[in-house]
Amino acid sequence: MAQLSDRMRALVQPHLASIEPYDPAFTPTRINLSANENTYPLPPTVRTAIDDALSATPLNRYPDPMSNRLRDLIAARGGHSRQQICVGNGGDELLFNFLMAFGGPGRTLLNCPPAFSEYEFFASVNQTQVERVWRDSVTFELDMPRTLEAASHANMVILTSPNNPTGNLVSAQEVEQVCEACPGMVMVDEAYIEFADLGSSVEALLPNHPNLVVLHTLSKAFGEAGVRCGYVVAAHDVIDVFAAVRQIYSVNVLTQAAAEVAMRLDVMFEPIVQQIRSERERMFAALQTLIEGLGAASGELAPAVWPSQGNFLLLRVPGAADVRTRLRDEYSILARDFSAAPGLAGCLRITVGTPQENDEVLRALSQLLKEERS
Ligand SMILES: *Cc1c(COP(=O)(O)O)cnc(C)c1O
Repeated sequence: MAQLSDRMRALVQPHLASIEPYDPAFTPTRINLSANENTYPLPPTVRTAIDDALSATPLNRYPDPMSNRLRDLIAARGGHSRQQICVGNGGDELLFNFLMAFGGPGRTLLNCPPAFSEYEFFASVNQTQVERVWRDSVTFELDMPRTLEAASHANMVILTSPNNPTGNLVSAQEVEQVCEACPGMVMVDEAYIEFADLGSSVEALLPNHPNLVVLHTLSKAFGEAGVRCGYVVAAHDVIDVFAAVRQIYSVNVLTQAAAEVAMRLDVMFEPIVQQIRSERERMFAALQTLIEGLGAASGELAPAVWPSQGNFLLLRVPGAADVRTRLRDEYSILARDFSAAPGLAGCLRITVGTPQENDEVLRALSQLLKEERS
């Protein structure tokens, strides 16, 4: 990742001098399964409704700062009130604003890695100290005793459910315990919740836990990663904070229009989500079979694939970094390489795509892994 020039290092705020921006390592490929996007085409009815809404949207007027029409649609879907919702320019903006509002110098974020790398990036930009309680190195379950202990003196906690990149859920009981232990704010990032078993969301805890914030995005299940829209659900006074710190026009008119259609026609996404879930199980079984035949090279951890509640699978394979490069260069398939990330040695993350994309991944991986072994 590009470093700042010496001249700029001297001029930026001191804590930004050695910042390392998030690098999605994007390369154009035929099959991009690296960013957990929804790779299925939008349902034609939805696409048409979006196109109609966009062409009917005046561009010369500023957006509604609070996206109230969209807030009402989101609130109605989830059984919330408008005052419990704040919309952002992607979930990322809300994560940033969460750190900006509740973090800062002298404050601590509790993170439970391996998790989404943006949390620590936004913490560092906001001069927020990070305390880490690592998940179990085999199952990636939370270490609850240590998590609760750390939460008891943290200003903020972020838990991801389903977790990216490990795919497992955090239970409502665990979230409840963390909310009770933490004197500060607890965010549960539910970016992938639509792909999880029904009833996995922790939103039902909101009425009894005023320090809980639940994050959502339209980038994953709703296939609008390019639209940039996310939202948080929380108590009114928490939403007032998000509303107070945000850039008032960050959610533009086109984003609001496209997101409103997705929320209004949300049932049309259900067949796609169901298909991704069943493809995920098909891929999981196929990868397990593929991996069973591979022995661990000396000094390497045994190959593995983890069950997932998201639209992606984490797998550990011999020569992971090489496998990822060869997938890209020889098959034009882009996967995400985590093999150098702490706690994820030898791991790749692959988004569950369309049946055809998944078949190509399986074909490529079975060839590559055979070659890596010989
Ligand atoms: C994708 C993702 C988000 C939000 O992404 P946006 O596109 O900014 O809405 C948030 N958290 C996790 C864990 C994600 O993977």
